[in-house]
Amino acid sequence: MTDQQTGKAALYIVATPIGNLGDISHRAIEVLRRADVIAAEDTRHSSRLTQHFGIATRLVSYHDYSSSGREDAILAELAAGRSVALISDAGTPLISDPGYSLVARARQMQITVIPVPGACALTTALCAAGLPTDRFVFEGFPPHKQGARRQLFESLAEEQRTIIFYESPHRIADSVFDMRDVFGEQRQAVICRELTKTWETIHGDSLSALSQWIVADVNNRRGEFVVLIHGAPVVDQDSQLSDADRQLRVLLEELPVKQAAALVAKLTGLKKNAVYKRALELAGASL
Ligand code: SAM
Repeated sequence: MTDQQTGKAALYIVATPIGNLGDISHRAIEVLRRADVIAAEDTRHSSRLTQHFGIATRLVSYHDYSSSGREDAILAELAAGRSVALISDAGTPLISDPGYSLVARARQMQITVIPVPGACALTTALCAAGLPTDRFVFEGFPPHKQGARRQLFESLAEEQRTIIFYESPHRIADSVFDMRDVFGEQRQAVICRELTKTWETIHGDSLSALSQWIVADVNNRRGEFVVLIHGAPVVDQDSQLSDADRQLRVLLEELPVKQAAALVAKLTGLKKNAVYKRALELAGASL
């Protein structure tokens, strides 16, 4: 099989369903049938998919722990004019799945890389969650260890774009608790579970309510998860500063500059130095 435009063999990156087999595209089936080789993360798992669609193409294994020899062998197939279709266990390859190194090396070798788009848990969750979609960040799986996980969440606490994570059933409860502690009880979030499958659940609420929901029923912790967090609110600096001014004016009538500034910084969440500077200006103006 060769690419219609270039007439050369190509590396096809083929998305497969994330649950519902009806989500495979006609083009994906066609490409998988006509490719010379299918490189799959788990050949046993993928053989169920190929059998279901009557695809007889040879399967070879390719995953992140594959030796560089295995990657070399796939690139050699391509260099010899045979086409390879890369698939993962579910969804779009390379999205929290193997393939980055293979695609990067293929492109360096001027091998044509052709995407065959389809299901992806990230976009499937985002389009149904009801959170802003105009700007978002995808963070993949949070770290397994609590310290590193909280550190990552803390680095994202002020992120204003919608934040998207993948999570496994083993860690979903702990992750949601840490999200509540770091992003705050009132931050809105959506838990998407078992998308496109029988027990599909899309449940949005505050992180405080979601922390209770996740432990309320063992079924809420079963399956595969995408968690989306509403971005941090945009801080209106101007109105915050005028609030700070108003508070400073009142407090400066009763307190020294340093004390008034410290209190206002605490009340508004503004930086101490900036409030102190402003307090000095206001105190100077009223002399
Ligand atoms: N490449 C895949 C994609 O395109 O979404 C993701 C592969 S990653 C190894 C697997 C993770 O994706 C799961 O642990 C879960 O977080 C998410 N995921 C995959 N299928 C899902 C589904 N049907 N419902 C919810 N999340 C899913």
